[in-house]
Amino acid sequence: MAEPTATFDDYLPEALQFRSPAPLVDIGANLTHDSFARDLDAVIQRAQAAHVTTMILTGTDREHAERAVALARRYSGLYATAGVHPHDASQWSRGLENAMRELHREPEVVAVGECGLDFNRNFSSPADQERAFEAQLGLAVESGLPLFIHERDAGPRMLEMLRTWRDDIRQAVVHCFTGSRDTLYGYLDLDLHIGLTGWLCDERRGHYLRELVRDIPLTRLMVETDCPYLLPRNLPAKLKGRRHEPALLPWIVREIAHWRDTEEQKLAAATTATARAFFRLTDNAGLNDNEEVT
Ligand SMILES: [Zn+2]
Repeated sequence: MAEPTATFDDYLPEALQFRSPAPLVDIGANLTHDSFARDLDAVIQRAQAAHVTTMILTGTDREHAERAVALARRYSGLYATAGVHPHDASQWSRGLENAMRELHREPEVVAVGECGLDFNRNFSSPADQERAFEAQLGLAVESGLPLFIHERDAGPRMLEMLRTWRDDIRQAVVHCFTGSRDTLYGYLDLDLHIGLTGWLCDERRGHYLRELVRDIPLTRLMVETDCPYLLPRNLPAKLKGRRHEPALLPWIVREIAHWRDTEEQKLAAATTATARAFFRLTDNAGLNDNEEVT
């Protein structure tokens, strides 16, 4: 098992090297993306140096979920989810369902997903998306794992489907929340968790979210990069290649803390405690690491 040492290397400009005042869990990192294939060790080292001690690797289809599990076995502090993204929902089949069921039995897999509805791009038809999501709701009930949900421009339908299933599902997080106030309140009424990305660091697209972040109870809030996507726009220096990575999560926490009018340390510690309980994380990453916690 590789043990990354806590040092930044040259890839991140010094102005972007920012260590969180408390350990963080990045609940949505697509580290199986091809853009990380070349320097994954360094990426994980930089995350550790930034105090991002734990990363949940998003499994968006069978291949990526299997790769996420393999990485979680290789590095401490890494876990995996296993699901089929709504973009790929048209591939859903009995065979794929069985493969997912097997993956959900692996100890490294801590959630069913990424799954859900994306009516923004409709890469798969809405009917196929609903069919694949419904099946994965069933797998969450069967496995007792929480759900890692993707929803874009599909809030009302997502709420309808979740209302039917909610009593049987242990917990669910709507990751990278970008919806309306009504949708947010709908999710909170269902006692769901909310994942926030650097979306609200974008003054053009995330403006309305800034007013909503205060409405999310601290016990329902988790943070994520969704890297390599969604590079925050509040970074104080340019990043070559514009690839987002877990080491930049503290900048997102800083932005959320600002709009919630709270301390970064408090927000970091709370989101980490929430994530550890939600995903039932078993490692000790960050637990004895409170030298800067006051
Ligand atoms: Zn997503």
